[in-house]
Amino acid sequence: MSRIETLAVHAGGEPDETTGAVVPPIHLATTFRHGPAGERVAGYEYQRESNPTQDRLETALAALENGAGALCFGSGMAAMAGLLESLPAGSHVLIPTDCYTGLRALSAEFLPERGIHASAVDMADLDAVQAALRPETKLVWAETPSNPQLRVSDIAALAALAHGHGALLACDNTFATPVLQRPLELGADVVMHSTTKYLGGHSDVMGGALVFARRDDLYGRVFHRRHVTGGILAPFSAWLILRGCRSLPARMAWHCANARALAEMLVAHPAVEAVHYPGLASHPGHAVAARQMRDAGGMLSFRLRGGREAALAVAGALELAINATSLGGPETLVEHRASIEGANAVSPANLLRVSVGLEHREDLLADFSQALARLG
Ligand SMILES: *Cc1c(COP(=O)(O)O)cnc(C)c1O
Repeated sequence: MSRIETLAVHAGGEPDETTGAVVPPIHLATTFRHGPAGERVAGYEYQRESNPTQDRLETALAALENGAGALCFGSGMAAMAGLLESLPAGSHVLIPTDCYTGLRALSAEFLPERGIHASAVDMADLDAVQAALRPETKLVWAETPSNPQLRVSDIAALAALAHGHGALLACDNTFATPVLQRPLELGADVVMHSTTKYLGGHSDVMGGALVFARRDDLYGRVFHRRHVTGGILAPFSAWLILRGCRSLPARMAWHCANARALAEMLVAHPAVEAVHYPGLASHPGHAVAARQMRDAGGMLSFRLRGGREAALAVAGALELAINATSLGGPETLVEHRASIEGANAVSPANLLRVSVGLEHREDLLADFSQALARLG
């Protein structure tokens, strides 16, 4: 059973041995009985190290990404920090110019305190990536498609570049999910997820995960770091995310179909200057996306000809789509990223990001049409 629809339903989901319950139990125990000299009874000792509910999710995520092991964290940022802060002092990290804002903040504010330095490069430009590698570059961080401009970078080519340099490739696969793209199969060493998004899938649980190509020294260091620093996932959260995995392939198919329909409607609208969606043939990363992704995903962004004012007017006029941050839930969410990023905003002022939800396509198109029509 290696097809992802089947894996998603069953991985990490063996019926409970003692009761036969088809749905896994949630183990809330913080501590597990051991022998007088600390001998483990069933492999567990203390929840901060590992616990049975989180183990099930880690088994599922490793299967979905075709990795050798996964580690879950209390949020996507905790997962990201758990990996990057495990690099040796003196390391340099290459990050994408268009990326999740938390990565930018972590790189600017916290990694330098640990002697780790990051610089940004356009990951879609392989010559620029090659030129930006330094002797001390230990890791290249890709995010594809990226937030919020949906830039696409070539995972296999980046893996070859990084490995040729003795560096690792990590890939934030939050937007694509393993249903649409499996970076480890393309050569990446580590995949990161904000499981808060599509994996959880219902806008009601926070979590993060790393999936490793190998259970090597790096995996061991990150595991140990999580145990000591405590950024573990709560059992109930692990259980909700595991439940989300079950329907992930079905939800992604619907998200993709809705996003494609919305992208096609927007690109033909006179008030729209540009649509960033890798499923459109006009997208500069379309060919690479078609090669490495099964479908183009549920995220898109678009720019208004009328600038910041028009973007805010459209966001304000939507009746079905909700103005909110985050993504990957059943409800369509819209966000003016520049406003959310504040004083140091890097996103274009006329850009709106859309997490295209699971509503009926015609209702969604009608909502965006009426909001755009009000621009006059
Ligand atoms: C949300 C997000 C993160 C951070 O995850 P949290 O669960 O919010 O900590 C990282 N990368 C991407 C692409 C995201 O969308």
